[in-house]
Amino acid sequence: MRAAAAEAKSAERRKRPRELTIKGIPVSPGVAIGAIWDSEGQPAAPPRRSITAEAVEAERVRLGAAVATSRKQVSKLKARLAVLPEEAQEELEPLLDAYALMLTDSRLIRGARKRIETELLSAETAVLDEADAIAELILAARDDDKAGLRRRAGEVREIARRLTRNLTESGFRSFKDVPAGAILVAEEMTPADAALLDPGRIAGVATEEGGADGHTAILLRALGIPSVLALPGLTSAVGRGDTAVLDGAAGTIVLRPGEAAIAAGRDAIVAYAKERTRLGKLRRLPAVTTDGEEMELQANLEIPAELPLIAQAGAQGIGLLRTEFLFMNRRTLPDEDAHHIAYRQIVEAMDGAGTTIRVLDWGGEKDMEALAEGEEPFHAGPNPALGLRGIRMLLRRPELLDVQFAAILRCAHLGPIRVLLPMVTIPEEVRAAREIYDRVAKRLRRRGDRLPDKLPALGAMIETPGAALAADAIALEADFFAIGTNDLAMYTLAVDRAEADVAHLYDPLHPAVLRLIQFATEAALRLRMPVSVCGEMAGNAKFVPLLLGLGIRSLSMSAASIPRVKQMVRTLNVDDCARLARRVMEQSDPKRIAELVEAFVPGERS
Ligand code: PEP
Ligand code: MG
Repeated sequence: MRAAAAEAKSAERRKRPRELTIKGIPVSPGVAIGAIWDSEGQPAAPPRRSITAEAVEAERVRLGAAVATSRKQVSKLKARLAVLPEEAQEELEPLLDAYALMLTDSRLIRGARKRIETELLSAETAVLDEADAIAELILAARDDDKAGLRRRAGEVREIARRLTRNLTESGFRSFKDVPAGAILVAEEMTPADAALLDPGRIAGVATEEGGADGHTAILLRALGIPSVLALPGLTSAVGRGDTAVLDGAAGTIVLRPGEAAIAAGRDAIVAYAKERTRLGKLRRLPAVTTDGEEMELQANLEIPAELPLIAQAGAQGIGLLRTEFLFMNRRTLPDEDAHHIAYRQIVEAMDGAGTTIRVLDWGGEKDMEALAEGEEPFHAGPNPALGLRGIRMLLRRPELLDVQFAAILRCAHLGPIRVLLPMVTIPEEVRAAREIYDRVAKRLRRRGDRLPDKLPALGAMIETPGAALAADAIALEADFFAIGTNDLAMYTLAVDRAEADVAHLYDPLHPAVLRLIQFATEAALRLRMPVSVCGEMAGNAKFVPLLLGLGIRSLSMSAASIPRVKQMVRTLNVDDCARLARRVMEQSDPKRIAELVEAFVPGERS
């Protein structure tokens, strides 16, 4: 069976055209030409390591600790089963029982221990060797149920991977071995994976899954790595030793490119570099319309590594500091000092420009081990996007909010800061958060910390239809609004922002989304309350005339988008934008709206 399948696959590969272009979703501009590094085909194993005889006891202890942690994790996973539908429970329960059994004094653990002692191997090498040996034995068994054998061998390898991950305290994926200049290909990439990428080494990223405004896309943009996501059939089309030309603006990858495609790729690299130089000249120029209206253009920050890019882009501060990076790729929670050190570095780097720090937005696709698997595991529920996400989770675990507020407030004397609450849907959430905020401030003052008399503004993200439609009520509790169009579009259209299959339905220009933006903006403007847009929509120069026409004067976006947006602002006139907005808001067909937005030419009467 397996031989036949392999033969069919190789015949299919032989038939494959030499050059193949696949189109996906463009998420981060730039062009890369390089060898493919297929992360699916790479072993996630850490390097083999031998030890000295003196280190045997220490390795045995490490193994014991990893087994205990893994056992805890598996029993937590089992506890979580209760929220799943019955069929899923029936399928998963025996699997988790098998995992739990392998984490007792099983052959895997005994064998690994023996390899540490007799072969002088590190615990992770011993675990992986033993798992390989057991899996091979299982696969060689005389049994007609080959699928069953493969499943059992897979289970052994899976538990070995969990043990290894706990031993090395790293994610399941490792990108450390990616050769410099490679184009990384993966079926799927999580935001936590993306945060580990080194933009100095990786020339481009291409994945089969993903959506334009998912957090993986946002991180790739932030890192400035040319990337295309949602490329159908990518991983099966990639062959060993392939090269590719990836165009992050066009959203294409050319596998096994011929001479013409390579020459076109080289031209595109030169053109992109020239455009960057040209846009770089805008850095010091103000973002002012032709009729003198000023726009505030700020940057979104996902990881501190972006700070130099923010300065280069000429951002007027940080309009959205996503603090999730502090919780990613770790299994313990950061304490107040760890938060404070990170915020302090960022606020100081802004050198007097504003920084809006958003407290943790956990949940949805931003699953984090420190919370999901830590000492006190936290579960967002069977549908995380609709579960205890953002402020809901923080109010359920106020000690987390307390730590973050304290660390942020300790930075208040270092520069102008604001504090932002994610996923607000009712005014009560802002009220409850403010109570904690005031209490923390009082405590810090008692402790002798330096705090300004007037505390930094506390604002609300408007990123659900409920919040947008209740914006007038929320505005009475919040000091400012930041409209998050990524989630607003996702929740309004019931389209997962990171899901390739429904990416064609994800549309911030859908009239429903635009009406919500308009309603929330007007609610803020009536109270003369600051309002900005900080979703990915803000970084798309084509959307700027419409947002400006709707009354928005502050945008926060990925640093790399600022020059292009500024260039657009400097060609606009407020009256033209208001007229465009009026015409757009009369439409109910998203296609017609897209046409109007696309056809808008600054300075031309419509
Ligand atoms: C948004 O939802 O638009 C937003 C800015 O928040 P995030 O992308 O972090 O969910
Ligand atoms: Mg959001």
